[in-house]
Amino acid sequence: MSDCIFCKIVNGEIPAAKVYEDENVLAFLDISQVTKGHTLIIPKVHQENMYELTPSVAEKVFAVVPKVANAIRKQFSPVGLNMLSNTGEAAGQSVFHLHLHLLPRYGHEDDFGLKWSTNIDKYTQQEMQEMAQGIANNIEN
Ligand code: 5GP
Ligand code: ZN
Repeated sequence: MSDCIFCKIVNGEIPAAKVYEDENVLAFLDISQVTKGHTLIIPKVHQENMYELTPSVAEKVFAVVPKVANAIRKQFSPVGLNMLSNTGEAAGQSVFHLHLHLLPRYGHEDDFGLKWSTNIDKYTQQEMQEMAQGIANNIEN
């Protein structure tokens, strides 16, 4: 896609600090470095986000995750690591070429945060089963 910044990185039109590359996948440092070693893993093919990601491309992209995660771990010895992919503007997606963020963690005082409330009392078992069934009904093969 000609106006996509990540396609431009794939095509070598703009520079990036690359950490991994193969025929289908590229990993490079996120320019914002939310935490030290913050890395993006992308497919070389332009697919917008998790909704558009095809299973065959997903397989290739996710196969790279443990390679890069362990390389970050060896290099920086973080105490943990978060992986996330923002899907849609409301979820914080700003570049519409699928990417997985790998965010090494350095303790509670580092610069990454995620609100994670528990609503365990909000739904009955029955409602949980109905909710699951509703999603299951929409799974396409
Ligand atoms: P999103 O907000 O879509 O989940 O993540 C997009 C990420 O791409 C942001 O964290 C942002 O810092 C990063 N980014 C945007 N433009 C560039 C760029 O030109 N080079 C690199 N390396 N990262 C970029
Ligand atoms: Zn693209």
